[in-house]
Amino acid sequence: MSICKKTIIETAELLRSREIGAVELTKEYINQIKKKNPDINAYVTVCENEAIKAAETAQKLLDSNEDISYLCGVPTALKDNICTNNIRTTCASKMLENFLPPYSATVYNKLQKSGAVLLGKLNMDEFAMGSSSEHSIFGAVHNPWNTAYVAGGSSGGSAAAVAADLCAFSLGSDTGGSIRQPASFCGVVGLKPTYGLVSRLGLIAFASSLDQIGPMTKDVADCALIMNVIAGYDPMDSTSVKVQAVDYLDGLEREVDDLKIVLPREFFDSALDEDVKDIIMRALKDLESGGAILSECSLPSIKNAVPAYYIISSSEASSNLARFDGIRYGYRDENAKNISDLYRRSRSEGFGREVKRRILLGTYALSSGYQDELYKKALKVRSMISREFNNAFKKYDVIAAPTCPTVAFKLGEKLDDPLKMYLNDIYTVAVNLAGLPAISVPCGKDKNGLPVGIQLIGKPFGEKLLLNIAKMIEMKAGRLQIHEEKEDL
Ligand code: GLN
Repeated sequence: MSICKKTIIETAELLRSREIGAVELTKEYINQIKKKNPDINAYVTVCENEAIKAAETAQKLLDSNEDISYLCGVPTALKDNICTNNIRTTCASKMLENFLPPYSATVYNKLQKSGAVLLGKLNMDEFAMGSSSEHSIFGAVHNPWNTAYVAGGSSGGSAAAVAADLCAFSLGSDTGGSIRQPASFCGVVGLKPTYGLVSRLGLIAFASSLDQIGPMTKDVADCALIMNVIAGYDPMDSTSVKVQAVDYLDGLEREVDDLKIVLPREFFDSALDEDVKDIIMRALKDLESGGAILSECSLPSIKNAVPAYYIISSSEASSNLARFDGIRYGYRDENAKNISDLYRRSRSEGFGREVKRRILLGTYALSSGYQDELYKKALKVRSMISREFNNAFKKYDVIAAPTCPTVAFKLGEKLDDPLKMYLNDIYTVAVNLAGLPAISVPCGKDKNGLPVGIQLIGKPFGEKLLLNIAKMIEMKAGRLQIHEEKEDL
């Protein structure tokens, strides 16, 4: 088995026992990227020299035999909206095509401190707006399970890189499903943490009240391990929450007695593909045989989650993206005649179609005369959704749902129909509106061999229980791996 197929924990053991050196491992991954990335298009920047240097430093730490992190020497990559000091961070946009951040995101500082080795930056939908990773100046990401299909979005590069063994783990960001949906499409584990649990400092903002960074990994234990590293209070992020540190790995396989799982009817509606539904129900039945109690409930406001999400996220985006004016940083048109011409040209040329659509929608929703009808109404829906979730959590421990209505769709299939694309998010956006944690874990494959993810939604700061249940599902369903199967044929 290629070393690049190993989980973080397996890799860490090989590094500690000196079966492989950190530099050799990094080179192995760089070779894999050179070989496979042209077909997958997950990486937009590979920082080979920096990676080798980081691996040399990690090796010294490994040799010192001090108490080192599991991540020491383990190769990783980050979604390209997470700032990395002096390493190009583009948001897959012409606007930031040559942007070298002067500082690093807190999450990257934490990974670096643990000795993780950054291999490069990962493709995405421009400014994280999309569900297919096709809206990118670098071209679409291809799903490693079948390259005619999308990898999901907006963290499609982060999911595809893990699934194709082009890094041991990655980080993505999730504003309305962008970690969970690509995780589901690519057969990897993706966790969207509770709002405020992971620092957003250095994450280029899309919709600040919804954005969260989270791990994308090959299995559940790795996901818990990364949460141990990236979670925690950051005084530099005003929305960061001070909570007691939790060891997410500890007791991951413990039995949970009397686990009350609820299936809201709105998540199992007519939009849900029958094949996907069967696979998800099988995973839930397994939990039931293990002693969990399954019930049904209704969360009526969920039906308004998609419109409320698109109003709120676009409104926040229109404000956040106002900073890209061609003056301070980012793309500038050189032929402008005057200052307003400079703004107009720079923004018209620097942003892609989908980003412009969101800015227009958001500006409209916030404009006087429409604010009450659109933005304020969306905020009311948001409160109602939160209330309904809170009430459900008074009776149940966890909510189970599909991550997406279907498996991955074909490249180009929804590109010309933004509404169809937006409807792909029906099962993910409500979680962000309510600030809750949710995980997508692979639970099987459909008849065409494409992965299916199940989504578990928890109480605020309930990540530990989510990981626990995800682990039970993984033990039944097994880890989904691509190449073994092809090699077996
Ligand atoms: N697909 C959603 C959107 O386009 C979610 C994006 C995200 O989570 N970043 O807004």
